Amino acid sequence: MSLAYQFHPTVLREYDIRGVIGKTLGPDDARAIGRAFGSMVVRSGGKRIAVGYDGRLSSPGLEAALVEGLTSTGLHVVRIGLGPTPMLYFATRHLPADAGIMITGSHNPPDYNGFKMMLGKAPVFGETILEIGKVAAAGDFVTGEGSAETVDIRDVYVDRLVQDYDGTTPLKIVWDAGNGATGDILRRLVKKLPGEHVTLYDDIDGTFPNHHPDPTVPENLEDIIERLHAEKAAIGIAFDGDGDRIGAIDEKGRIVWGDQLIAIYAADVLKTHPGATIIADVKASQTLFDEIARLGGHPLMWKTGHSLLKAKMAETGSPLAGEMSGHIFFADKYYGFDDALYCAVRLIGLVSRTGPLSALRDRLPPVLNTPEVRFQVDEERKFASVREIQERVRASGAQVNDIDGVRVTTPDGWWLLRASNTQDVLVARAEAYSAEGLERLKASIREQLKLSGIAAPEGF
Ligand SMILES: [Zn+2]
Repeated sequence: MSLAYQFHPTVLREYDIRGVIGKTLGPDDARAIGRAFGSMVVRSGGKRIAVGYDGRLSSPGLEAALVEGLTSTGLHVVRIGLGPTPMLYFATRHLPADAGIMITGSHNPPDYNGFKMMLGKAPVFGETILEIGKVAAAGDFVTGEGSAETVDIRDVYVDRLVQDYDGTTPLKIVWDAGNGATGDILRRLVKKLPGEHVTLYDDIDGTFPNHHPDPTVPENLEDIIERLHAEKAAIGIAFDGDGDRIGAIDEKGRIVWGDQLIAIYAADVLKTHPGATIIADVKASQTLFDEIARLGGHPLMWKTGHSLLKAKMAETGSPLAGEMSGHIFFADKYYGFDDALYCAVRLIGLVSRTGPLSALRDRLPPVLNTPEVRFQVDEERKFASVREIQERVRASGAQVNDIDGVRVTTPDGWWLLRASNTQDVLVARAEAYSAEGLERLKASIREQLKLSGIAAPEGF
């Protein structure tokens, strides 16, 4: 019997493996991922792999099948059980292990699930994900007598998180785990942190009965903001479904966006790493890059995508990087992976020492911006249209950054058009110093889209 296996064509993606349970993804896929990725780990000299899973209803079944596939290649599997994605990243460092796999659907709807992988200390993405499909399709599996053990690292992980707390005044904090995989760790964490803590939705529940666990969507933050006002808390902290993205609220009840958080952290990190490179993605505000330069750091704009940022960070030796989406990476005192619980500990510490959070947020000059507007385009034309627009605006003499799509800076501010790596959509965003400026930037986006035969999205 051949073990060769074909995945549904949509599940092997740029940054992860993801699908809809019962439609494009199930235990057979998990077993095949175990065989294929396990074979790649063995061939690269690895012996041990850590496996964790999130709170989705489908996760335990996928985990069991995955472990079966992994042990069939001769690997020793360390099962760390239910928890956030960064706990799995931590496990690969702490145990240590030669690789890691997290079963998580992140912030996606309850019927989704997926896999995030690490090989050595690096995230697996792009070509390496496609390689898993090739190994499986060829049935080119290593076979061996593997084994598995269960290790509870929850308290070790929480102790490591708390180790870098450096606050002075204890604060009152409201937390929202959104019924995601962070709930149990959050309860352990707040017991060890100074201050007063109010936790919302810390029961792990894969049906997400209260709100969706995605802190970049303002409506998901309504409950925490209401509670923050009622409790007169100093900070609100929310996590996405698997704890690798953070959302924050200042004591006035305002959302502190990903790029604003990076600016706040940068001020702290640059004190101990003067002149360091701080990285943020192309969707981030110009005020962040200006602030990093003002603080004596070296601002670096890079491509959107947490795996890409992590790789750039390792390459440049940067102590801090982040995305608008709330993926923030500390290599200062920590391991350089995106751990929202760790980001929370650092935020509380620095607000306690230098706050309030509203004042830290308001150090950045006010700007007007559009949200990130995503609109559907023909997949065939997606990258080509962005290239056309790049060429046209460059020919017009504009100041263009083409690291990821086209980001044009003008005296009014900047506008961005980029192609999503994972969906048939273009992403548009603009930021200006005045309302009239914002209209002019939006008009430029409309004009460029029209010249490429693409209908402008609503709001532009
Ligand atoms: Zn996530």
